[in-house]
Amino acid sequence: MMKDIATPIRTQEIMAKHGLTVKKSLGQNFLIDPNILRKIVGKANLSKQSAAIEIGPGIGALTEHLAREAGKVLAFEIDQRLLPVLADTLSPYDNISIIHSDILKADVEKAIKEELAGYEDIVVVANLPYYVTTPIIMKLLLEKLPIRGLVVMLQKEVAERITAQPGTKAYGSLSIAIQYYTEAEMALTVPKTVFMPQPNVDSAVIRMIKRPEPQVKVINEDFFFQVTRGSFVQRRKTILNNLQTAMPNGKEKKELILKALEEAEIDPSRRGETLSIKEFGLLADKLYPYFS
Ligand code: SAM
Repeated sequence: MMKDIATPIRTQEIMAKHGLTVKKSLGQNFLIDPNILRKIVGKANLSKQSAAIEIGPGIGALTEHLAREAGKVLAFEIDQRLLPVLADTLSPYDNISIIHSDILKADVEKAIKEELAGYEDIVVVANLPYYVTTPIIMKLLLEKLPIRGLVVMLQKEVAERITAQPGTKAYGSLSIAIQYYTEAEMALTVPKTVFMPQPNVDSAVIRMIKRPEPQVKVINEDFFFQVTRGSFVQRRKTILNNLQTAMPNGKEKKELILKALEEAEIDPSRRGETLSIKEFGLLADKLYPYFS
């Protein structure tokens, strides 16, 4: 068995050898615990018939575990300084492609076609840079890529919001946006001690499995998301009050909002956090004719 990259000593050796210092602005908190890595990769249910896409391979801690379990790994790294480091640390593996790019600007669909041809089971597995977790997840979901799902480490607080159910404090428009496309669940909570340097916040791993179809069928997706975001602008306010403020000319159209709520059988005095995604879908469809 090859020596793991993710031990405190090996990580320090690699960084010293390459004169590397971490860039906090890029969310560089490297994993230094092989047990956590095994657990994360275990949650992705990979086989040699699967391919993994990694965002931010860092010095290769997670990448090598993915390369051992999957048939192929495709990784996107923004920090040019890490490319020679990765070429060195990952030299024992011949099934890894690294693309030097900001994932938010990358043409991921094209990269999948070029690098992962023939793989039908593709999973995103990553220890995400915490300053951009939500934009990365939303990009990968909105681009409708041919992926089975995502297993990602992120801030525990964001993980709780993404996986939250109606009626809880953490439930909001982020929970809805992601659960609309995926079945999302908390997979692991992770102590700060497994990172170098340690982040300021607690971490967790979530698993999001893409639904064959979105959770609800709506007339217009953009409008649905506009309604869900608008319903949480002020969490303590009722759905009626929030919609009056958030929808275009909402104050003047109060009667129409009330009518749509009645048609959707939703009490106007409820708060957004109590509505299920199905109820939001129905409400958006009833409001749509009045606002389009
Ligand atoms: N995977 C490594 C590990 O677990 O030890 C490193 C994870 S570290 C939390 C995040 C990584 O994402 C860093 O390598 C950082 O340079 C990279 N990164 C930050 N922003 C990025 C972006 N927009 N696109 C691609 N990679 C990015």
